[in-house]
Amino acid sequence: MLEADFVIVGSGSAGSAMAYRLSEDGKHSVIVIEYGGTDFGPLIQMPSALSIPLNMSRYDWGYSSEPEPHLGGRVLATPRGKVLGGSSSINGMVYVRGHAHDFDHWAEQGATGWGYADVLPYFKRMEHSNGGEDGWRGTSGPLNVQRGPRKNPLYQAFVDAGRQAGFELTEDYNGSKQEGFGAMEQTIHNGRRWSVANAYLRPALKRGNVRIVNGFARRVVIENQRAVGVEIEARKKVQVVKARREVIVAASSINSPKLLMLSGIGPAEHLKKHGISVVADRRGVGQNLQDHMELYIQQEATQPITLHSVFNPFSKALIGAEWLLFKTGLGATNHFEAAAFVRSKAGVDYPDIQFHFLPAAVRYDGKAAAKSHGFQAHVGPMRSRSRGAVTLRSSDPWAKPEIRFNYMSHPDDWVDFRHCIRLTREIFGQSAFDPFRGKEISPGSHVQSDEQLDTFIREHSESAYHPCGTCRMGRADDPTSVVDPECRVIGVEGLRVADSSIFPRVTNGNLNGPSIMTGEKAADHILGRTPLAPSNQEPWINPRWQVSDR
Ligand SMILES: Cc1cc2nc3c(=O)[nH]c(=O)nc-3n(C[C@H](O)[C@H](O)[C@H](O)COP(=O)(O)OP(=O)(O)OC[C@H]3O[C@@H](n4cnc5c(N)ncnc54)[C@H](O)[C@@H]3O)c2cc1C
Repeated sequence: MLEADFVIVGSGSAGSAMAYRLSEDGKHSVIVIEYGGTDFGPLIQMPSALSIPLNMSRYDWGYSSEPEPHLGGRVLATPRGKVLGGSSSINGMVYVRGHAHDFDHWAEQGATGWGYADVLPYFKRMEHSNGGEDGWRGTSGPLNVQRGPRKNPLYQAFVDAGRQAGFELTEDYNGSKQEGFGAMEQTIHNGRRWSVANAYLRPALKRGNVRIVNGFARRVVIENQRAVGVEIEARKKVQVVKARREVIVAASSINSPKLLMLSGIGPAEHLKKHGISVVADRRGVGQNLQDHMELYIQQEATQPITLHSVFNPFSKALIGAEWLLFKTGLGATNHFEAAAFVRSKAGVDYPDIQFHFLPAAVRYDGKAAAKSHGFQAHVGPMRSRSRGAVTLRSSDPWAKPEIRFNYMSHPDDWVDFRHCIRLTREIFGQSAFDPFRGKEISPGSHVQSDEQLDTFIREHSESAYHPCGTCRMGRADDPTSVVDPECRVIGVEGLRVADSSIFPRVTNGNLNGPSIMTGEKAADHILGRTPLAPSNQEPWINPRWQVSDR
């Protein structure tokens, strides 16, 4: 019988966390519906292979944006994990909680109970932090978090350069103080990618009350305004997985709104256009799509110390062999080992720019590496006001949705991005880089004027792969909200959405951490538990924020 108390669609960051918590006391049965297959093997498990699975149709849904009007009609890849563990199995393994003020903003926007004081206890519950600020981190949760070995001297040069430019340092950007330059954290454990499949799902499956049903969710079955199950297609057969208590959609910021719309929940006009009967007219479904964009600022290195030395088949084979035998060496890291969160200008009270530093000059998706030794920073603004939407292309559940980000559609985006490029040049220009700095590869020193920078931004900015916001959480009486602060879909009983789609606004950093936190907290709401007691810890805010950017 395909029936359980709770039926979760998606084994990704939020879905796996919920499967673990909902099954913890042994009182409830849980089915997780997942279309993707196994995460077995080094392409997923070996951290340094990170650029491979995101390009593979076996592990990725293969989505892309519609032509982006403000980027000269470019079509940008929108990878989403289609494998056990969801996007946490194909992501870059960078671990960032987000800034305290991000969550306070959520609460102000109507997500009552999701302010920083409320979510901090959940971040602590989920973490097993190895290193980090005492009293601010979790030490016994399922999600192992570590810092990289930082053996390459370029990591320290990046942090020193930040200090020389007058910016703050931080010992732990996931602790009280996000602002500053410091070590980057990774969801890697014992040399392996610590996806939610490894951290949450496998331990949950051992309990006996959780099972995975491999199938493609076509729609939520709703009778008399109540979700009673999920229609799936598996091995060419359509069947229904029944939910005795609730259906929880955790299919990602792209597939969750798609699934709601296919189930009759969404903007009525849009649903009618596709011949779908309207169950709940919620105009917010699919809207409020937002993302982070980034650019790679690349610099030649004058010393042969970068990863360029190992971009050849022989070295890659050696790295792979060491990893297979011992789970150590260059295969056991994502190479993002230094980071910075800074403010773009005086008057901005918490960071709005993120840097990832890499001791190599290479595209994130591995598609082009510089021909010489080099290093790079991925840099981008954190709080763009551009918004887009996910809509249906057709009522066929197999049709890919239409994804329009409207990247760079707000004039501030251009000002912010130009600043990001100039700021990175300032950092790379500090004396800490004197022993290593060659000429600028990208954009190239000839790219200086606003117009030249804009051309570079238009042609080269990339998604940082943080789409979110398409089933926005907010007050139940707000017509643009899709779920209420307990993740209940407004207008339908027995149905929740809990994943990155419910974020009211994108957080400051990468989204795996906040997505897992969302699953952790949603599980308490689903079980009707009193949420964890709010924290009274106060985050560090730069006392100079009104007068200086540093
Ligand atoms: C290439 C890439 C790199 C990234 N790098 C980082 C990083 O370094 N650090 C970081 O913090 N974040 C990173 N992110 C973002 C982060 O991983 C995601 O934001 C987060 O995992 C989203 O979690 P989620 O629960 O919303 O959805 P997901 O984890 O995407 O889970 C959704 C799940 O639902 C399943 N599903 C969807 N539709 C159906 C259906 N119809 N039927 C059955 N199953 C379905 C999917 O297969 C998937 O398993 C990256 C993302 C990508 C794609």
